[in-house]
Amino acid sequence: MFNNKNKRIALISVTGDPAVEIGKEEAGGQNVYVLQVGLALAELGWQVDMFSRRTSPDQEAIVTHRENCRTIRLNAGPQQFVSRDEIFECLPEFVDAFQAFQEKEGIEYRLVHTHYWLSSWVGMELKKRHNNLVQVHTYHSLGAVKYKAVETLPAIASTRLETEKACLENADRIVATSPQEEAHMRSLVSHKGEIEVIPCGTDIHRFGRIDRATAREQLGIDRDAKVVLYVGRFDRRKGIETLVRAIGRSQHRDRNLKLIIGGGYRPGQSDGIERDRIDGIVKELGLEAIAEFPGRLGKDDLHLYYSAADVCVVPSHYEPFGLVAIEAMASATPVVASNVGGLKFTVVSEVNGLLVPPKNDAKFAEAIDRILADPQWRDELGKTGRLRVELAFSWDSVATRLAHTYSQLIADAESVRVPESAIAA
Ligand code: UDP
Repeated sequence: MFNNKNKRIALISVTGDPAVEIGKEEAGGQNVYVLQVGLALAELGWQVDMFSRRTSPDQEAIVTHRENCRTIRLNAGPQQFVSRDEIFECLPEFVDAFQAFQEKEGIEYRLVHTHYWLSSWVGMELKKRHNNLVQVHTYHSLGAVKYKAVETLPAIASTRLETEKACLENADRIVATSPQEEAHMRSLVSHKGEIEVIPCGTDIHRFGRIDRATAREQLGIDRDAKVVLYVGRFDRRKGIETLVRAIGRSQHRDRNLKLIIGGGYRPGQSDGIERDRIDGIVKELGLEAIAEFPGRLGKDDLHLYYSAADVCVVPSHYEPFGLVAIEAMASATPVVASNVGGLKFTVVSEVNGLLVPPKNDAKFAEAIDRILADPQWRDELGKTGRLRVELAFSWDSVATRLAHTYSQLIADAESVRVPESAIAA
């Protein structure tokens, strides 16, 4: 039987608060994903509560985004920023706070969709306590992939790897956001477990609703400039250094070229330090007149920057999905991206952009220059990108697919449900 009670679900994202400002150090794709999926599911009639950890006493405990869609911040550990590698010990408190919230509100969630490995642990604990609770999990990043690229493993590494394996083998469904992520789970984590590929999405109404000339006029950018755009967090793994060095080699560097590096940062913190390092490379290469750091791009101007650009570059060392690529594509702007992870799924080389080896500034320069040299081809690549996003990567289509999976899993769990009275006896 499928009734309204069965449409009450919790999205658990301990470290990716859907109600915070995006574009700073630890707020990125995961936060955007949880919020947009939550809103789109509410639109489809689900009752969605999104749970995160409170990181400051000034934060509201509950944020209502729209009817049937709230962010709930639970007290677990200190009410301050704690790095992801240190949050594990706060999780038992998070589980207790979640339970207490359910009891206080007199509600029972039928399904939890957990995000990132820390939340997967919370979901597995809740499953032990609640008969027939369904767990769906999305990793957003896999320790098994991440740790291959680091020299010294953090102390939490073995716990993370064990938790990721246990979750893959025991959750009711794992949502991989690209076939590449699924392949990594199978080759690096476990052969057991149920995986389904449902990509991330983007807002096709927000992006791509304005043409290049109008966007430039609104941003005060010269209409004849060649504009290369980066959007994202300041983190070494994002490969911004490769992009800056590529611009240093570009044949267009003395021909009205403009490099815009968009993203928030906090002076003195890891993103601020990376921003300063990148600025140092800009100076070392004599690119001060070309490069610009507009800071965090928000809801009023992000779409303008994507539309104004001739090319958007995603030079990440690794990317499980990479929302920025599909946001640029939705804006009819071609993408030059590293040939890694989910970027191999979204960017079809020579069709809506170009894929090049990561960390290779010569190849990035070549690809960027090819697009800048041919505005007609740029427009063709852009148009195909927009079409691809409309067909495969809108939040509405993502939420519809998730809703289908949720309904099926809840109905399966209902069919074998043991009455609480039987458990009590
Ligand atoms: N973002 C933003 N403003 C900024 C920088 C980034 O809104 O100044 C958003 C960007 O539009 C995208 C997300 O942050 O939606 C980054 O997601 P992605 O998957 O590309 O990378 P992640 O941060 O998850 O590594």
